[in-house]
Amino acid sequence: MPAPNIETIVSLSKRRGFVFPASDIYGGLGSSWDYGQLGVELANNIKRSWWNWLVYERDDIEGLDSSIIQNRLVWHYSGHEDTFIDPLVDCRKCHSRFREDKLLAEFGSTKSTTQIIYPDSIGDNSGRSNRLQEQQIPCPNCGEIDWTESRPFNLMFRTTVGAVSSDEDEKALAYLRPETAQGIFINFKNVLDTSRRKLPFGIAQIGKAFRNEVTPGNFIFRTREFEQMEMEYFCRAEDAPKLHQEWIDGFQAWLGTLGILPENLSLYEQQPHELAHYAERTVDIMYRFFPEREDESKQWDELMGIANRKDFDLKAHSKKPENEEGKRINPDTTEDLSYFDPATNERFYPYVIEPAIGVNRTLLAVMMDAYTEKTNDKGEVRVILKLKPSLAPIKVAVLPLAKNNEGIVTLAKRLKHDLQPSMRTVYDDTGGIGKLYARQDEIGTPFCVTVDHESLEDDAVTVRDRDTWEQERVKIDDLKEYLLKRLV
Ligand code: ATP
Repeated sequence: MPAPNIETIVSLSKRRGFVFPASDIYGGLGSSWDYGQLGVELANNIKRSWWNWLVYERDDIEGLDSSIIQNRLVWHYSGHEDTFIDPLVDCRKCHSRFREDKLLAEFGSTKSTTQIIYPDSIGDNSGRSNRLQEQQIPCPNCGEIDWTESRPFNLMFRTTVGAVSSDEDEKALAYLRPETAQGIFINFKNVLDTSRRKLPFGIAQIGKAFRNEVTPGNFIFRTREFEQMEMEYFCRAEDAPKLHQEWIDGFQAWLGTLGILPENLSLYEQQPHELAHYAERTVDIMYRFFPEREDESKQWDELMGIANRKDFDLKAHSKKPENEEGKRINPDTTEDLSYFDPATNERFYPYVIEPAIGVNRTLLAVMMDAYTEKTNDKGEVRVILKLKPSLAPIKVAVLPLAKNNEGIVTLAKRLKHDLQPSMRTVYDDTGGIGKLYARQDEIGTPFCVTVDHESLEDDAVTVRDRDTWEQERVKIDDLKEYLLKRLV
């Protein structure tokens, strides 16, 4: 039984130390969140799973960590500076501000599409419209229907680099990256030359991205600072459709390994009119983030997008491509990001398949599907977070049955230290055993090891399973091997 709604996870997160509201003691900062002692471990484990799967287990992907602040020209030629916009609307009655496309998606008939809108399609998206008024969609805040026309709003956070005379100094203007992908494209040749890769191959990156979202919300689903896991898979144009499908299938399988239930995943094929002009095909993997909504079609939202971006990005950052008048499309770059295939003697710009997923949305989906309630013998409802052992923030809790018995406490602490180098282990003696078990169940610890009076006699401990609550007696000498085997 997954969590009935996001609120359940918000309260568990705050209660147990997964996620806290950011800047809380100063009144918070609209939809910003801090990851606590358990949240940081869960997020790290998700990132490790992604990285291991792509970079270590495959033979064709390299890693990268590019700068958050790049030369402003990167964002000029990628198209973001002019067109990374959302359509903004205000309610004239209560002055609340919304994204027009999101309200249309929720209350109208169109699904929101990817935010990156490149120059060719800007006419469709930046023109002022009043579709909310036309469709008579009421303000979610006050219920009135009195909308302003929509107007474009650039989502990139601006900053200045170096000691500048004023904040308006155009020469010092820079942006916090709104996606990690561009850092990969501009390093394509560096990685290609130094790794001696042949097509097809990919470059993977995990890192923070920043978007000045108009309406952040739904806990960590949409925030202004978030973390992305993006991989750009470069290939020949003719191989792109097949590889695209392989990545769509591959990511569904990977999400399954994180414990996300197949019935809570669905695919959304972007319609031709929704596609960004650079994209040949884009498929979003949707997760049931809002199971409480009556209308089944409104329960879903984007967990990740997988796009066939054609050769748009490498061309956009290259010095050779020219427009119809024979002028360089990009007169500022010093490099040509084309690929030479010695086997066929061809030079071309590779196509790219981009699976892009947010760490935060993944973490939310993982927690929602791991959430379970179970009634004990006394009729009390207990929460169990059935995380995959590989994702669990803490793998083992060592608990002394009597915290005043020196022999038991010493042995328990020794076991904690012996296990710690191999698996994240904690020692806890701050409550009765029932309470300690319940606490570990709620944070997803797969195993509790209990040290009791008998342990001092028989050199064995009780290992309790989080999901079944079954207990097994295990010899201390065999304990590490036993746990490692069951933690995979
Ligand atoms: P949305 O339509 O929900 O705004 P998007 O299509 O703009 O998302 P992409 O640009 O494709 O998102 O980014 C890839 C992934 O990064 C998304 O699928 C999502 O998991 C994550 N992501 C994007 N924006 C945010 C955000 N503001 N907060 C948290 N995660 C985000």
